[in-house]
Amino acid sequence: MNRSVPTAIVAASPGVEPAPPGLSGLSPEVLATWLRERGEPSYRARQVNEAVFGGSVSSIEEIATLPGALRHDLASAFRFDTLEETDLRITDGGLTEKALHTLADGALIESVLMHYPARRGARERHTLCISSQAGCAVGCPFCATGELGFGRDLQTAEIVDQVRHASRRLIGAGRRLTNIVFMGMGEPLLNLDRVLGAIEALNDAHRFGLGARHITVSTSGVVPGIRRLTALGPQFTLAVSLHAARDPLRDVLVPLNRRWPIAEVVAAARDHARATGRRISYEVTMISGVNDTDLDAGAMADLLHGDHAHVNLIPMNPVAHTPWTASPMPVIERFAATLEAAGIQTTIRRNRGQEVGAACGQLAAERAGEPPVPAVARRRSRLIAESAAALLGERSHEPAPAGVGD
Ligand code: SAH
Ligand code: SF4
Repeated sequence: MNRSVPTAIVAASPGVEPAPPGLSGLSPEVLATWLRERGEPSYRARQVNEAVFGGSVSSIEEIATLPGALRHDLASAFRFDTLEETDLRITDGGLTEKALHTLADGALIESVLMHYPARRGARERHTLCISSQAGCAVGCPFCATGELGFGRDLQTAEIVDQVRHASRRLIGAGRRLTNIVFMGMGEPLLNLDRVLGAIEALNDAHRFGLGARHITVSTSGVVPGIRRLTALGPQFTLAVSLHAARDPLRDVLVPLNRRWPIAEVVAAARDHARATGRRISYEVTMISGVNDTDLDAGAMADLLHGDHAHVNLIPMNPVAHTPWTASPMPVIERFAATLEAAGIQTTIRRNRGQEVGAACGQLAAERAGEPPVPAVARRRSRLIAESAAALLGERSHEPAPAGVGD
């Protein structure tokens, strides 16, 4: 199969009528104006949102509180659900639910629901990892989504509907969603307007109503996006996918680093922590012999020493196209000890099957089919050469990935 244009993320063909917008992505202003133009009273907006976010109906036709003519108009202008089809896989003895969603144009995206049972006085948590784009332009070489390349930005409703789906399943089981993390497919800060629209709907007490502190946005380091989030003020948690504290290596692991290097990313993260009072989470995918050396641990300790930060060390989940494997646990423990000795709070995430990033992108990659053997071999040798140069301390001469600008 030719993988130069992966089938999993092909966007709608030109000339094809786009599907109507999803109701869950409408801002209160747009919905109010639409209703006013039809001479409807303003309380209709509340009735629509109760139906969309309440979980008791599954189509516009079923919204019994609305008059028939309005239901008909709504149904011709909007969609109740933007996720056409969902394929659910339950793993980890029921603790992880991976959902592969098909969108109207055939694009595939993933969301992963993780259950954390109550323990040591902490209440049980149900965390949903959601996607912000179909595919991703950043192209981190250890990431299944990066391998797919960029498909398209998700619409606000396509982001919110991942949450509505999981929430419906939870409510059905007498539980409720406690946390949302943007750690699925895509780089949320490269689709920031739609992501902010989704966060607003998820946070709004009259719509989904989840507290800002329970929403985490993860970024590979889009500095202007971090600064925009900071300026907004609400106390969302920011997670930064750091992976390496040395630029030559981070250029390879997170190609976006060639555009916004480590010092700029960490400066923006520090300003965010200062402005919001919220601790920054740094994510490090641990790759054996690549970013887990004593040199790297020392560089990270120097970089983050004294910061209001928390580091999560996550063993790399194996991905077909890389030559790499996860760091062995003793190496990760040694890395953690170096960070902790520098006063940096560090957690090792041991349950790999449950880890959010490790879980996302892989179902879509699987569906796209196995890449041809020569392409994998070429890619592997390029990665080996690039990371070897990076280990010697050379900066990458490659430009930043296309579509990743200011
Ligand atoms: N694009 C954003 C958010 C989505 S990726 C970002 O990069 O932060 C979410 C997380 O999954 C990131 O921290 C990423 O580094 C991690 N991840 C991706 N592929 C992985 C793999 N094979 N093993 C472990 N973690 C991985
Ligand atoms: Fe994109 Fe994040 Fe994957 Fe990098 S790790 S390719 S930024 S989704």
